[in-house]
Amino acid sequence: MPAGSAVKPQFPFLDLKAQYASISGEVEAAVSRVFESEIFIMGPEVSAFEEEIKPQTGCEFVFGCASGSDALLLALMALGIGPGDEVITVPFTFVATVGAIARLHARTVFVDIDPSTFNLDPRKLEAAITPRTKAIIAVHLFGLCADMDAILEVANRKGLPVVEDAAQAIGAQYHGKLAGSMGTFGCFSFFPSKNLGGAGDGGLITTNDPELAETIKLLRNHGSRTKYDYVVLGINSRLDALQAAVLRVKRRYLNQWTDGRRKNAARYRDLFRQSGSDNAIQLPIEPKDRFHIYNQFTLRTARRDEMKAHLASEGIPSEIYYPHPLHLEPAFRDLGYAAGAFPEAEKCAGEVLSLPIYPELKDEQLQAVVHAIADFHEGRR
Ligand SMILES: *Cc1c(COP(=O)(O)O)cnc(C)c1O
Repeated sequence: MPAGSAVKPQFPFLDLKAQYASISGEVEAAVSRVFESEIFIMGPEVSAFEEEIKPQTGCEFVFGCASGSDALLLALMALGIGPGDEVITVPFTFVATVGAIARLHARTVFVDIDPSTFNLDPRKLEAAITPRTKAIIAVHLFGLCADMDAILEVANRKGLPVVEDAAQAIGAQYHGKLAGSMGTFGCFSFFPSKNLGGAGDGGLITTNDPELAETIKLLRNHGSRTKYDYVVLGINSRLDALQAAVLRVKRRYLNQWTDGRRKNAARYRDLFRQSGSDNAIQLPIEPKDRFHIYNQFTLRTARRDEMKAHLASEGIPSEIYYPHPLHLEPAFRDLGYAAGAFPEAEKCAGEVLSLPIYPELKDEQLQAVVHAIADFHEGRR
């Protein structure tokens, strides 16, 4: 570093090492327990985790599976989605939401988002429904629930099931109801960067429908009721016992970690207000009827790329979720959507910037982020 230059703050966008340092003894004991038992597929760790996580999903039936992507796939399989069917969702989401539909050779019909919540705009939902529509996937992006009452009102009137992509929203609430408990299925991910992250891939599918629960149980395990008795065509998508053991430890800290994220979000709001830069950027909203769990703290600014570069030069990490709306991605070109089809999603993709929000952040780090953004707006270097 050249003489005289200030020491730049150095911290990661997400600090999973700091989280691990606080629970390493418990995690190692849990992992050892699985090795001692040599039960790696299903077994007591998976059943115990499913029981323990239940209250945090608001659902009667919960099933571990291999990933959040598979949770979505299994939900659509259980609903019998296939070729010729249409499934409605948003273009501004992680690719897996749309991937699950495409895997089953069904057609994705996109609906634009409400730019204030980043979630499906229920006012645009009904116009997208056709006689071929078989389901709606509502994504609770960044940890904020979509407007479920309005979505369910349309869906119920049309007799359509709603699958909740709650991969980023474990513990989020809408009118006091937990994410994943309002639709026909809830789909969760334990990808390491989610609020409840495992030591690798993992997922969970939830429902309050006993018949669909039985179907999911079959589908995630090769379609077999007992060994070598194949009732339906299923897949291999189970939650590993090792993951379940790790998640049993981390689950106990989830509420505390969520509180930490919410406190950091509140602190950001205060600091941005104090710095005056809350006028130049659009901070994420938390409508009064919702409980945001801040998997991401995502702001909007028309000068996003410049701001990101400025932050990087000041040692401040930030990420773009997501840089491209999915209807314009080559993988989904065959759907035939052109640029301009979903203006809100397209505009968002060009303006969003996510800031570090994890519970282990220190106050001086939050201050450094806000100072760097204020400096950017004041043109200081
Ligand atoms: C992470 C995520 C998924 C997929 O979860 P994986 O466990 O990574 O397969 C699906 N949808 C959304 C919105 C996600 O953020």
